[in-house]
Amino acid sequence: MNGAALTAGGELAGRILDALAEATTDAPGVTRVAYGPGERFAHNLVREEAQKLGAVARVDAAGNLYLTLSGHDPNLPAIVIGSHLDSVAHGGNFDGAAGVVAGLAVMAELVAQGVRLQRDLIVLVTRAEEAVWFPLSYPGSQAALGLLDTQALEARRSDSGRTLADHMREEGFDPDAVQRGVPGIDANRIAAFVEVHIEQGPRLVAAGAPVGIVTGIAGGFRYVDAKCLGAYAHSGAEPRFARHDAVLGFADLVAALEIEWDALEHERHEATITFGRVQSDPTQHGGSRVLGELGFTLDVRSAEAAILDRVEARLHEIFAEVGARRGVTFELGPRFTWEPATMSPAWIAGLDHAATELQMRAPHVPSGAGHDAATFAGAGIPTAMLFVRNENGSHNPYEAMEIADLDQAIRLLLRFVTDFDNSPDQP
Ligand SMILES: [Zn+2]
Repeated sequence: MNGAALTAGGELAGRILDALAEATTDAPGVTRVAYGPGERFAHNLVREEAQKLGAVARVDAAGNLYLTLSGHDPNLPAIVIGSHLDSVAHGGNFDGAAGVVAGLAVMAELVAQGVRLQRDLIVLVTRAEEAVWFPLSYPGSQAALGLLDTQALEARRSDSGRTLADHMREEGFDPDAVQRGVPGIDANRIAAFVEVHIEQGPRLVAAGAPVGIVTGIAGGFRYVDAKCLGAYAHSGAEPRFARHDAVLGFADLVAALEIEWDALEHERHEATITFGRVQSDPTQHGGSRVLGELGFTLDVRSAEAAILDRVEARLHEIFAEVGARRGVTFELGPRFTWEPATMSPAWIAGLDHAATELQMRAPHVPSGAGHDAATFAGAGIPTAMLFVRNENGSHNPYEAMEIADLDQAIRLLLRFVTDFDNSPDQP
């Protein structure tokens, strides 16, 4: 920043991102389908760039890519920097890819400075992180650790209708080995996992900071096909006392959950409560109808597992209260859950220290969205994340990250990695 030139690593990162955008443009934005041509192109490109830096490339049974810059002592557990290269349809170029190129940029800086680390530095490029393609939580990174649920291989890709196993096989990988739980990397051989990612919310923009240090990744639960059920009736003929109005029942639910959210915020807990889709039946609804059914989704997130439990418990109390008052019932349907992930306090302190050394302001920020880093943290691997300032959210063509901001994340990561490698009290 301050008008300083980019690092050589930052230049490389910008160049790779430009090449990715050009090759995977799908106006508006880019499309890199998981186990599709865009993701394949991106994996091949970063593999070539890493090999030019002297890294050794290896691919696991699920197609995750490991780019290793070897250290002096192959017996020391490695530092792993990772993220993904798939995108949503008509998404932005930076979600995922920024983290991968940041890893390559750190390698490039080490090589340019003639620094060889004690331990291996691995850039791990995962597969299929965006749940829009397969309705799964991070199947690529799960498979990297040999943790992918065997049922997951039967999940169908939203555009093709074909299974994850099918798509893995088509790209030349080995779903049978994934099914047997053969890991791509031994969790005990990872000293630290670090993911750089664009921020998908407005906190860093609001704080005027290029980079943030993530404190935790929210977990959550989601009902994708919930219903408030009452009784259809004529708006003029049905008196109020006789109604079972699904709209009023749903409105009471929304209001009561927002009161709970207020209470959580008052107690300084972070959570989000979202009704992302609300729908009435077009064959039944109309201007003179009391609605007998309202469908909705409910998505609740928090980095604190106890808060998720509390909201869930309150939800069932509200159903009983509203049911008694409005004469309606609630059906929740299938429930999806994902666990919150805690970031390593030691690595957060290490990143704080590196930021201080660089005189860089890097505030602490939570992550409301899920990331591959959650898989590694969940497996007990000490994990950290850096966010890069980004406007307009993500999963859309209007993501706006400045390469100068990514360059700040690269500088911070480089300092963290070299401090880590030199510190005698690291594992
Ligand atoms: Zn992402």
